[in-house]
Amino acid sequence: MKRIAIFFIALSAFAAAPTTDIKVDQVGYLPHAPKLAMVAAQTLAKEFSVRRATNDAVALKGKFAEPVKDPDSGDLIQVADFTRLVKPGKYYLEIPGVGKSWTFSIAPDVYARAFYLSMRSYYGQRCGTAVDMGPEFPGYKHAACHLEGAYHESSGKTGPHVSAKGWHDAGDYGRYIVNSGISTGTLLWTWEMFGDRLKQVKLNIPETGDGTPDILNEIRWNLDWMLTMQDQDGGVWQKQTGEHFCGFIPPDKDTLVSFVIGTGKDPYKSSCATGDFAAVMAMAARSFRSFDAPYADKCLRAARLAWAWLEKNPNVVFRNPKGVSTGEYGDGNCADEHLWAAAELWRTTGDEAFNRYFVDHYGALRKAIGPAGPPNWGDVGALALWSYALGHGKDAQAVAAITDDSIGAARQIVDRSSHNGYRISMRPADYVWGSNGVVANYGLQLMVANALHPDAQFVNTALDNLHYLLGRNTFSLSWVTQLGENPYRHPHHRPSASTTEPWPGLLSGGPDKDRQDPAVQKIANGPPARMYVDEQASYSTNETCINWNAPLVFMLAGVLPAK
Ligand SMILES: [Zn+2]
Repeated sequence: MKRIAIFFIALSAFAAAPTTDIKVDQVGYLPHAPKLAMVAAQTLAKEFSVRRATNDAVALKGKFAEPVKDPDSGDLIQVADFTRLVKPGKYYLEIPGVGKSWTFSIAPDVYARAFYLSMRSYYGQRCGTAVDMGPEFPGYKHAACHLEGAYHESSGKTGPHVSAKGWHDAGDYGRYIVNSGISTGTLLWTWEMFGDRLKQVKLNIPETGDGTPDILNEIRWNLDWMLTMQDQDGGVWQKQTGEHFCGFIPPDKDTLVSFVIGTGKDPYKSSCATGDFAAVMAMAARSFRSFDAPYADKCLRAARLAWAWLEKNPNVVFRNPKGVSTGEYGDGNCADEHLWAAAELWRTTGDEAFNRYFVDHYGALRKAIGPAGPPNWGDVGALALWSYALGHGKDAQAVAAITDDSIGAARQIVDRSSHNGYRISMRPADYVWGSNGVVANYGLQLMVANALHPDAQFVNTALDNLHYLLGRNTFSLSWVTQLGENPYRHPHHRPSASTTEPWPGLLSGGPDKDRQDPAVQKIANGPPARMYVDEQASYSTNETCINWNAPLVFMLAGVLPAK
């Protein structure tokens, strides 16, 4: 009898295991938003039940619509629509012949934990200090790192240079102004647009309780590093990194000198870095004004000084100098960074000179807002345009044009997403290195459009993109570490190489149709959304990066309960 009992327990445990054929947002859904699950099984399903996780009681039954082929993933998808279920709780789907799904929640604050983890991940990326994620994540810690800084010969200076603060960029330990620019800028926008609902959120970081909201405390850690990268003449160096990447070791074990790296010839600083810096410091001056006026003044002085340098040096592009092989973030066109600096400086100061620059130049960059491709680190033109419109720019004609462009693009994105198998905004061409960042930035674009012209469809489509990142994808994988019941587990992220589970709250880069590393090249070439492996070695599909997490944080903040 005993043996039989064990057999039955084993059988029921097997039967109860969730199937990756059912794809749900493993975090969950807002009570009054659309709720879909996607099913891609060998045999077509007819009906589904949504059951309560606490007692397995059926909460809702439904039937499937006709299946649709999704060419991006190769999946034949059936959609389960359980929008009618609005009661908060924890649930799972059960489909006869297919199995059960991972559990998910329905609640007004369903994304609070996801916001906390993804924003707090920046604390885990801190450089120049000991980091300890605390009792919630015991063992996730390291001693102070990268304390030795120096001017690289490409910087135009010699001798030691401070190496202080900042966030490690990605799976490596470099710090890059261009990528810090869009990341920190996105997070400052998150504060500016959704601050009411964020100011009480505690991130459990060393500064918690100091009277400044924690999101700003965390952002300041990177601003402080960025400020050390400005030369006396106002120009800003491209990056501070070793000459090459270190091995897969914890940050405090990396003994490579952290060099300030420049262009290798006069004027040594670069225009895109300086433009991004000016924009971000202007934003910081706005956001910190009511919490620390002297700091806001310092940021604004730095922004103005950077602007003056940029006016004199608008076209200094960066390429890695000889002997340097860390990330380049090279960008051949700095007109968009220049426009972003003008827009943010105008919004902060109201000075006519910045308004004039914006009005004279925005027309050439209007195409930055479109249905094909949201902003990215190399193209911040849309951020410039949106900031001018969101800040009620002086030129009414410009504001009207930008608003119209934003609404038109958002409507096209909504339409395209409604025809996508997973209801996401991606075109096949968007599955590039860091495609999950593209998904998140489409979400950001839709939410900005909603701020300019409220439309529930914009928000719902942003939510669809969020659902994809949190598990409603072909792999049935949550692409945020330690979030959901089936998260990815092997990011290309050096600190995570020495912990059992990866550091929490980190968004994976996601599928890369161009398969740019040997690990992902081991799988057969196929549909773009399938070109992903959950392996540490896959730097082109499974790295983490501060500029991908930032629009995720933005989207999550945008769907937290309004206060
Ligand atoms: Zn470090």
